[in-house]
Amino acid sequence: MGVTGDTVEAIRLKLDIADVVSDYVPNLQRSGKNLKGLCPFHNEKTPSFIVSPERQTFHCFGCGEGGDAFSFVMKAENLTFPEAIEKLAAKTGVPLVQTEKKDRNYEEKMGLKAILDFASSFYHSQLLLSSAADPARRYLANRKVSKESLERFQLGFVPDSSVFLEEARKKGFSEARLLAAGVAVKINGRLRPSFFGRILFPIRDSKGGVVGFGGRVLNSEIQPKYLNSAESLLFSKSRILYGVFEGLSSIRSNREIILMEGYLDVLMAHQYGIESAVAPLGTAITSEHAKTIKRYGAKTVIAFDPDSAGRTAALRSAEILLPEDIDVRVAVLPQDKDPDEILIEKGAAAFKTLLDKALDPAAFKTEILLSGEKGPLSSSKKSEVAHEVFALISKTSDEVLRSDWLRSLSQRLQISEDSLRMEFKKEADKKFRFRRPYESSDRKGDLKTSPAKVEASPFERQVLCLMMKNPSLASIAEETHFRSPDAKATWQALLTVEPHVPGWPARLLENAGPAKPLASELLMIADSMEGEDPQQELNRIFTRRRLEERLRELEGRIHSQQEGELHPDLRLEYQKVLCELKGSR
Ligand SMILES: [Zn+2]
Repeated sequence: MGVTGDTVEAIRLKLDIADVVSDYVPNLQRSGKNLKGLCPFHNEKTPSFIVSPERQTFHCFGCGEGGDAFSFVMKAENLTFPEAIEKLAAKTGVPLVQTEKKDRNYEEKMGLKAILDFASSFYHSQLLLSSAADPARRYLANRKVSKESLERFQLGFVPDSSVFLEEARKKGFSEARLLAAGVAVKINGRLRPSFFGRILFPIRDSKGGVVGFGGRVLNSEIQPKYLNSAESLLFSKSRILYGVFEGLSSIRSNREIILMEGYLDVLMAHQYGIESAVAPLGTAITSEHAKTIKRYGAKTVIAFDPDSAGRTAALRSAEILLPEDIDVRVAVLPQDKDPDEILIEKGAAAFKTLLDKALDPAAFKTEILLSGEKGPLSSSKKSEVAHEVFALISKTSDEVLRSDWLRSLSQRLQISEDSLRMEFKKEADKKFRFRRPYESSDRKGDLKTSPAKVEASPFERQVLCLMMKNPSLASIAEETHFRSPDAKATWQALLTVEPHVPGWPARLLENAGPAKPLASELLMIADSMEGEDPQQELNRIFTRRRLEERLRELEGRIHSQQEGELHPDLRLEYQKVLCELKGSR
């Protein structure tokens, strides 16, 4: 949906970034005129995440993320700009004035939502109250699902009767819309409720709206055991994770995701206080899931069933998560116990211990490949295992991880570390040779941009910081003063802002384009700089710069001339410049 610029400005005026951020960063502490806390976007133990209420911006000195309240919410909640506007409009009470161009699918989505909400609450009350749901209630009681979990996840039951369809018609939902929403099916020309005879798990998006259902049979002889809603405008299996909405606050505060296999696993984990548990919707983890997990900045522990299918799926999931630079581990559960059995029989503490002892993916894969091996390993087995594990190690671009994993592998296989590393390099080179040029440059772009990689010289940084104390000073500088593209872009953005208009820092970041990390970092540094009149300071710096350049020029000329031919004026000027330079310190 389109929103007018005035609306955005109205929201900006009413918004307090400290207020917005504190919903996500629980213990923001005052630090001078700023606020400091643990960054929600990367893992850290000491706070490097700064919020400036004065400038209404944030910046993390750990991962380089920065921006205004809008970009914070977009990043934290994985929203598009219009979605963030919608959310912050609600928070500030600013009415949304929409431009005429609405989301083409908007009406259709709203219609779908209405039906899904209705179906979800109808089936939930069926599970709680109807006698047809007796077997379902018994089944859930046998699986030790508590009343609270049943409520929290709004489980439902679909009786094999026309009662739902009658109610839906009374609400005015047409047959066509019920079919389109996937809550009804036509069997032999007769309309019937979808998922009949099944326990219904409503699937929510991260904002809590029901977007689809998963249905589980009561009698495991009926196939398939689980049935999911078909893909729709709202429902995408490759993106949504079950339990994310319910676990959002735990995921944020612990920065951790426990990845499980199914709906019931997630529900039981939550029931036992492990609320960062989520699961894909009966499908394998996709790279889109990985991107979602990455946005939560969460380390991930995979806790799948310990059978061979579960272990293979765990490994495949790890391989999908690794290229996103997600800190992923795989829990090794006892052979004969599924996660819910461990929780029920041994309790949450025992389960958490297993999570804590989770292995890195390379070690996990090694153990799987070596399981069943007794006695000393043959050389050919060692080589086979090493090459299998190489394939996994090459999925991460983190050199430190690679190095650690190779070391552990060499110890486990009792191969010399040097020869293992050589072998790994040989294989990596082979792959590289077959890679097309554009792929190798993609790879480079994949590397995470840590603040250390933001290139700007100390001179550029100092000058830009001073200008950020008063952007009208930006005109003192010239383009030739900036060598690094990011510094130049930041300076050009400074030239575009009007310092007397409130909210200029947000506009500066917008206009900085790809140089936003640098601009946001320098804004924060400038903010904490004390004293010094920025104009005087800038004049001093530029004067000094000019003198240094002149001195270098004179030195060059002096060196290129023979001793006897040295012009006295040159020598004199050199002395003078040197003197001035010393005085300007
Ligand atoms: Zn950070």
